[in-house]
Amino acid sequence: MRGKYQRQLVGVFGDPVDDNPTVIMEQAAFDSEQIPMDYLTIQVKCGDLENAMKGLRAMNFTGINITMPHKGEVLRYLDEVSESAQIMGAVNTIYWKDGKLAGENTDGKGFLKSLNDGNVATEGKNAVILGAGGAARAIAVELAGAGMRNIMVINRNRDHAQLLVDIINKKTLATGNFMPWDGCVQIPEDTDILVNATSIGFQDDAKPDIQYKKLPKDLVVCDVIPNKLRTSFLQEAERHNLRTFNGLEMLVNQGALAYELWTGRKAPVEVMKQAMKKEYGEC
Ligand code: NDP
Repeated sequence: MRGKYQRQLVGVFGDPVDDNPTVIMEQAAFDSEQIPMDYLTIQVKCGDLENAMKGLRAMNFTGINITMPHKGEVLRYLDEVSESAQIMGAVNTIYWKDGKLAGENTDGKGFLKSLNDGNVATEGKNAVILGAGGAARAIAVELAGAGMRNIMVINRNRDHAQLLVDIINKKTLATGNFMPWDGCVQIPEDTDILVNATSIGFQDDAKPDIQYKKLPKDLVVCDVIPNKLRTSFLQEAERHNLRTFNGLEMLVNQGALAYELWTGRKAPVEVMKQAMKKEYGEC
């Protein structure tokens, strides 16, 4: 129990970390619920993570987010790691569970929550994921856990894609396949869910190079890009009357899960969403 002046501490460790916007939504949530908790954005350089984790324990932090480049290395400093985070080999949220420092990955879970909230079926369905980085990996593992039958990875770099396909095939019940991204690719006709998990569209209005006119007619189209409600990719899908899910929802959902692990309370999701929309000029 904290006293009159003491605050509970959470935050994020990463490098670079200055552009990480998570403080905006988490602090808005703590303040709106009058929880005496501060979210600190902390630069932890490569090679300093072990000391940072000792510091976190010594200063009795309530929890921490982990971002690049530490999401993989941090597993060795934890007492336990969730099954899906172990499969991904990446943790983005740390919290105390029965006196033990536990690691979770909320990225893919936040993505899945958007689909679940929208009543999108995943059991026995087929997904195509554009990209094979951290976001793609988190999403693929959660989609596989939600019963997806086939997950096709389309990526520029073949080796990166193969790593993800191997994880899907060896560590989940789904089947993973690779399709090279050579020019303007056609999304297979039997695809139910298409995800842009590349960083295309973050900096500008670019969109992934795929054949938009030939997209399956009942396709659900999702983007991970968090700083725009309607990326060019999603606008193109909407032009073809397809259902869309944006990356801002995913960002807020994964942040809400972290909030719940730290506070044990239901997150004020609408407060968090409004805070992020305002930050990104999307109000
Ligand atoms: P990584 O660097 O791990 O992976 C980036 C991926 O994008 C790689 O597969 C890379 O391909 C691909 N890529 C990048 N540029 C291009 C391009 N011009 N053409 C084709 N492929 C390209 O990044 P993350 O996975 O961590 O992040 C990806 C995006 O997801 C970011 O924009 C990030 O902001 C967003 N994100 C959103 C979250 C949310 O909650 N909404 C959570 C986490 C991330 P290759 O392997 O060939 O290099």
